Amino acid sequence: MSPDLTVTALGETIAGRIDADGAMTLHDYMGLANAHYYATRDPLGVGGDFITAPEISQMFGEMIGLWLADLWARAGRPAAHYVELGPGRGTLAADALRALASAGCRLPAHLVETSPVLRGAQATAVPGATFHDDVATLPTDAPLLIVANEFFDALPIRQHVRTDGGWRERVLANDRLERGHRFLPGLGEADWAVTAAFADAPLGSVVETCPAGAAIMADLAARIGAQGGAIIAIDYGHAGPATGDTMQAVQAHRFADPYVEPGARDLTAHVDFTALGDVAAAAGCTVSPLAEQGAFLIRLGIGARAAMLARKSPDRQEELAVALRRLTVPAEMGRLFKVMAATDPRWPVPEGFA
Ligand code: SAH
Repeated sequence: MSPDLTVTALGETIAGRIDADGAMTLHDYMGLANAHYYATRDPLGVGGDFITAPEISQMFGEMIGLWLADLWARAGRPAAHYVELGPGRGTLAADALRALASAGCRLPAHLVETSPVLRGAQATAVPGATFHDDVATLPTDAPLLIVANEFFDALPIRQHVRTDGGWRERVLANDRLERGHRFLPGLGEADWAVTAAFADAPLGSVVETCPAGAAIMADLAARIGAQGGAIIAIDYGHAGPATGDTMQAVQAHRFADPYVEPGARDLTAHVDFTALGDVAAAAGCTVSPLAEQGAFLIRLGIGARAAMLARKSPDRQEELAVALRRLTVPAEMGRLFKVMAATDPRWPVPEGFA
């Protein structure tokens, strides 16, 4: 039997909209589900649905802070702003700002967050932070040092399917007989949405795009080109072009069906870093090579940081060793998670990428 969309109140609403319109794009489904999901809970941590690198260990945010501090110092220590996109509980921001301050860099914090629940946690973790609904209101007077960890993967994607009539955007339709849903290729042709790289893709191939991610990256890269600064994005993803359906749901630390209980499960898709980097380059930024998270953190010296913390608190030795492994080992987060930076071409080359 196909999964039942309608087991939550939002599911009923979505099924009703599909009845009225005939179908809903996967993109709109993911956008509605995630907006509800993040607005209504703190999904992070052991008791939640998933755990992220900054929640595993303070070392993650500290390494990001030290990476920013090094770049900022070599850029001549300008006045600047710390910006974070989708800061979760604010843990990364607090750890990064502390590391920046220890390097003599005290920055005002700007947090771009839509969830009222998570804003509450962020206000406690980062007292005095300024909140933004989107990137449009970020300050224009100084360089921006921007961090995005597991942000781009939460933005809604479009999926395009190759049919014998060309590329079509994938949509969801209700299946009343099955009390569930089914996928259909949309009616409108969508060849325009798929690049020439996929000209030879076989029938049935799925190509994903993330218009919201591209738009946010284009805005920020233009700001960085005009004001100075850098963005570092860490996420699970790949270099493109690639085909395949990467949409997934996680609930209580287990993979779940993305099309059951919309709004009650975290929906994500792998980030196409090549597509994001192309947007940043087109807006005038210098884009780093794509690094694996493990190799990146090791090049920045996370091993030495773990050893130093263990010397200061011998009782934490085991906990620190476990965290170091989870963040860096290829079979854990070390390889699946990637790191990419885009910088003002007038700024120095960032550490950690080669
Ligand atoms: N960066 C955090 C949290 C990752 S979860 C960490 O690493 O722990 C995704 C975050 O992005 C949440 O804070 C969520 O509320 C936020 N978010 C999702 N969509 C958003 C949007 N369109 N604009 C701003 N924030 C968004």
